Amino acid sequence: MLQTSNLGYPRIGQEREWKRALESYWQGDITEETLNEKMKQIRLSHLQKQLDSGIDFIPVGDFSYYDHVLDTAMMFGVIPDRFKSKQNDTLETFFSMARGSEAGQASEMTKWFDTNYHYIVPEFEASWTPQVKENTILKAYKEAKKELGIDGKPVILGPFTFLKLSKGYEPKEFSTLLGKLTPLYEQIIKELHDEGASLIQLDEPSLVTSLSQEDINQFKELYKKLTKAVPEANIFLQTYFDSVDYYSEIVSLPVKGLGLDFKHDKGKNLQYIKELGFPNDKILGVGLIDGRNIWKADLMKSVQLLEELKGLVSSERLLIQTSSSLLHVPVSLNQEVKLTKELKDGLAFADEKLVELKLLGDHFRSGSKEYSQDFQNHQKQVEQFNQSPFRKDIEAQTLAGIKTERELSFEKRKGLQEKKWNLPFLPTTTIGSFPQTKDMRQARTKWRKGELDDLKYESLINEKIEKWIDIQEKVGLDVFVHGEFERNDMVEYFGEKLEGFAVTKNGWVQSYGSRCVKPPVIYGNVNFDQPMTVKETAYAQTLTKKPVKGMLTGPVTILNWSFVRDDISNKEVTRQIAKALVEEIEALENAGIEMIQVDEPALREGLPLKAEDQQEYLSWAVESFRIATAHVLPTSQIHTHMCYCEFHDIIDSINALDADVISIETSRSHGELIQIFKTNVYEKGIGLGVYDIHSPRIPEINDMVQVIEKALEVLPAKSFWVNPDCGLKTRTEDQTIAALENMVEATKKARSLI
Ligand code: GLN
Ligand code: ZN
Repeated sequence: MLQTSNLGYPRIGQEREWKRALESYWQGDITEETLNEKMKQIRLSHLQKQLDSGIDFIPVGDFSYYDHVLDTAMMFGVIPDRFKSKQNDTLETFFSMARGSEAGQASEMTKWFDTNYHYIVPEFEASWTPQVKENTILKAYKEAKKELGIDGKPVILGPFTFLKLSKGYEPKEFSTLLGKLTPLYEQIIKELHDEGASLIQLDEPSLVTSLSQEDINQFKELYKKLTKAVPEANIFLQTYFDSVDYYSEIVSLPVKGLGLDFKHDKGKNLQYIKELGFPNDKILGVGLIDGRNIWKADLMKSVQLLEELKGLVSSERLLIQTSSSLLHVPVSLNQEVKLTKELKDGLAFADEKLVELKLLGDHFRSGSKEYSQDFQNHQKQVEQFNQSPFRKDIEAQTLAGIKTERELSFEKRKGLQEKKWNLPFLPTTTIGSFPQTKDMRQARTKWRKGELDDLKYESLINEKIEKWIDIQEKVGLDVFVHGEFERNDMVEYFGEKLEGFAVTKNGWVQSYGSRCVKPPVIYGNVNFDQPMTVKETAYAQTLTKKPVKGMLTGPVTILNWSFVRDDISNKEVTRQIAKALVEEIEALENAGIEMIQVDEPALREGLPLKAEDQQEYLSWAVESFRIATAHVLPTSQIHTHMCYCEFHDIIDSINALDADVISIETSRSHGELIQIFKTNVYEKGIGLGVYDIHSPRIPEINDMVQVIEKALEVLPAKSFWVNPDCGLKTRTEDQTIAALENMVEATKKARSLI
């Protein structure tokens, strides 16, 4: 009989109670025991919800106190020496790895595939002893059974992906390490099976990335070994986020079932099944409820797909699933009282997605051609939403009349800009935001609630601007910013002001650790409504003779940090955003702001997982940036900023943005960046952050002088800018002032040395 399955449930809780519990523990407000109690409560309530929703396979082991990759590392004792404790590794060890402690610097954190979720990178060291410290998945399985009578589906990060995501070994050591991990996985799986787990899900999302034949051979060997060692266990191999390139080889592995993503695979998985078949001894996991986006599922489309599959795989071997874990979507629509009914009817968060699974499952199990009333109501809402006026009538987004090329080439406009701006050698500036202090945040909350009127709110913003213009003047920077005091977040702020966006009340998703983000929702055609940044910037400019840099978030970053409509392409949506930004930039220029920074910290983040799709993405991403910025006067100076960037593979695209000045975060990768510029000539203005804004430490003058000198070994001094790594929003005012004073001193020293 056809069944339904969920791949993972959000951890944060409807009210972000998970986040609050963690943070109060870190602050020392609650004990470890209380934390454990709270976590258990949250975990069980999530299981209960899933049980109530009526789906068949409920995941266990997906819950975490921080991150599931870190959990896996902990389970196998992959703990860097600097954190190992003499007595016993504890919760403290776990959090030290995630967040750093006196014992040492936190482990690296990086993006989980192409999502905005970040995992902690496991570090293998020579001293690692292969071991199962504790089978935490088994613990979760037993708990669900004992407390709620749930026969859960254990979810384990598979060995291949776990190792691919780890560091601390040479490529040639991969297979040795895999060999060491295999018996550990065997043990875990065996114990789960012995305890009664009927289906054991091994997540191997690395299978959807571009792999070599050598990789695949290792993968096959691994799964043959695993299944041979525990032949009685039902191993379910789960992939997500894209299609599986080596389908025919993967599908013939001796596992019980294979889970495929049918939402983010560009139709390829279905095509493979059609062309190459599906073995009649396996279960097929059909991921068709989108785990990455928030739109109500078009269930008729799902029915069509399932009908098609039924011709190829017998229906009792189909498992209807979410396309990935629901970790990447908010918990529930329950509290979205402010959204229009029209929009809300078009949305489904995690809890609503479980209902969708159930509706589909019930329909197929009933064997009836008729659709239930609930099914029909659901479908009616989807259709109404798709017909809404804000989605229809998309004027063709042609590039007619749109400039994508600056009037003059960089070489030609460079001289004009030098003359216009007349900046000193090694100009100093900052990245945009200044500290967001408590009074500002509180004022915003009050203003939102209507407890503070516009006038008072705006005058507070102006006071902050005045204060910081004054500070910048005293510190002696060359190019100023207004400080972004009016912004809560660099994407949501624009989402609140552009047409086609909605902002949710409680649509939080986990980004890393306890940090959550609330992506705006791009539901309709994006249009410029009224100037978004002009008032504050222009006001700042009236207070100083130094240039004030306008500050915008770029089209690609706005796209990548939002939930985006899926009825038209991302390329199309990004173009719409870019066109709206054209109007904003024009308004800035008209107000006399002719140095404008368009931040694109998330440009690289959207890079598709498969090598063959990357060029296309980069080409429209670059094009969108150019649409937004190419129309300005030759003398206007366009800046951009990027953080956490691995550059080597996209340096050409960065150059193609044709921004006059770029600033890049470097604190975590300085040496690496220098290497890149050794082999790539970069002629445009560039600022490599000279100090790390993530640390409360005040940077030393001489350290910064050295950073500048190092950079100037590979970059032309004439085009080098001096700035911090990133925005200063999270620092205190005192730290910021002291750091900037030192930065200016360092610049003076560097100027005198060159
Ligand atoms: N202009 C933004 C700021 O300074 C840039 C933030 C970012 O790069 N993430 O806050
Ligand atoms: Zn940044």
